[in-house]
Amino acid sequence: MTKTIAILAGDGIGPEIMAEAVKVLNFLKTSHGLDIALEEGLVGGIAYDVKGHPLPPETLELAKRADAVMLGAVGGVKWEPLDISLRPEKGLLGLRSALNLFANLRPASIYPELADASPLKPEIVSGLDILIVRELTGDIYFGQPRGIRTLENGERQGFNTMVYSESEIERIAHVGFQSAQKRQKKLCSVDKANVLECTEFWREVVIRVGKQYPDVELSHLYVDNAAMQLVRYPKQFDVIVTTNIFGDILSDLASQLTGSIGMLPSASLDANNKGMYEPIHGSAPDIAGKGIANPLATILSVAMMLRFSLNRADLADKIETAVKKVLSDGLRTRDILGSATTTQYKLVNTQEMGAAV
Ligand code: ATP
Ligand code: MG
Repeated sequence: MTKTIAILAGDGIGPEIMAEAVKVLNFLKTSHGLDIALEEGLVGGIAYDVKGHPLPPETLELAKRADAVMLGAVGGVKWEPLDISLRPEKGLLGLRSALNLFANLRPASIYPELADASPLKPEIVSGLDILIVRELTGDIYFGQPRGIRTLENGERQGFNTMVYSESEIERIAHVGFQSAQKRQKKLCSVDKANVLECTEFWREVVIRVGKQYPDVELSHLYVDNAAMQLVRYPKQFDVIVTTNIFGDILSDLASQLTGSIGMLPSASLDANNKGMYEPIHGSAPDIAGKGIANPLATILSVAMMLRFSLNRADLADKIETAVKKVLSDGLRTRDILGSATTTQYKLVNTQEMGAAV
């Protein structure tokens, strides 16, 4: 049955990098019989300009109906004066919560060809291959009550609430353990159980879920120590599972160990492995329209989509080996210290992407 893929390019470099991802998808369609239909939709600042809202109803309808969503990037200085409820980023957050994408998977692996792009010494990062599983729809970002209030004595106060229900922790823990089963079978759960009851509970539930995965080695770290360990001995990690706020911070940290913001993909999944796939970087307004953005993070997000939502790991492998090939050919855009242009990688011309036999 034909799978529908929503293509939401967004703002800034979004359309430029998405065009390259679409080339790969169309190639897989014609040369490997991948049965897909691509449907474009507006999201972010462009959607506000055209439709008056960063997540117009027709885009939401498309995203809900589609089997998977490919997203470019949203945002830009042009829309900064807008009320927060109309900013481009609201389009992204709206999609995450409307689609119930509670599991955010962010691999951070280093390509040997790019070892010099990492800010850390080669011996610390060579061979690095981490997967961060971040809970995406709970925690202090969504907990009630929240706000800014004035106390009886007249002093003002800001407050948020960290909250996780048992089922929310269980479902993300399962994603963590199952991801580890497919990799090195090591899962580190990151919390602050010594200080925050909410994450003391998190640890308790993760341990209980872990009894169903005796083949996975489970460990625990407090978030402050995890941050330190990620910089000092990052290779000790296989899969990290953590809360929304800790995952937000640690996944940015982990991505920078690889030194290549333009290379890293991500997946945000619901309970049925329907997902939204996007590069971890933003809309890069400083280079938008110049044709020098790195499209590989978006193309690698296509690979994640093939693996998780379309059950085509074989085609995902092809993309990933083709990326290694173009890097070993010396092609590099500015973000990875080169001067190649967006369209120069030409993945579909590589032997690695070759037609199926
Ligand atoms: P956001 O808030 O949306 O994450 P940001 O301003 O934090 O956006 P990015 O848009 O990710 O950050 O850009 C950070 C820097 O990295 C910029 O200098 C940008 O040009 C560069 N950059 C980001 N993505 C790419 C890419 N795909 N190719 C080349 N450079 C990139
Ligand atoms: Mg950012």
